[in-house]
Amino acid sequence: MAYAYDDQNIFAKILRGEIPNRTVLETDHTLAFEDINPQAPVHVLVIPKGAYVTYDHFAAEASDAEIVDFHRAVARICAEQGLAADGCRFISNAGTHGVQDVPHFHLHILGGRPLGRMLSAG
Ligand code: AMP
Repeated sequence: MAYAYDDQNIFAKILRGEIPNRTVLETDHTLAFEDINPQAPVHVLVIPKGAYVTYDHFAAEASDAEIVDFHRAVARICAEQGLAADGCRFISNAGTHGVQDVPHFHLHILGGRPLGRMLSAG
């Protein structure tokens, strides 16, 4: 699978500091910020600083350091947001069938209320 990265996507602009964000956590290889259109009381987006389109792209081509940093960041966010007790949901949309709007890999972390079943039709 080819992964063509468009460096004009909105998260690339956030990473370059061209548009603002509400940062939750920043590490060497990872940035996490509040979703601009939150779907739950907690809705954080976690992105690698590297140019990866989807989760599988990141998993295939990122360095070990980037992959570890990303997942440790996820763990820190969950702890800091107090999500362990009642749980949460991790979502990463990819491509056309996944209805991915922003073509820079991002993990949604959603929590703070019951989230219902995983998928809806349509
Ligand atoms: P996806 O459909 O998985 O690509 O999700 C893209 C997410 O990015 C949506 O939940 C949007 O609300 C969110 N989003 C778009 N622009 C921004 C922005 N400037 N700052 C924060 N979140 C954004």
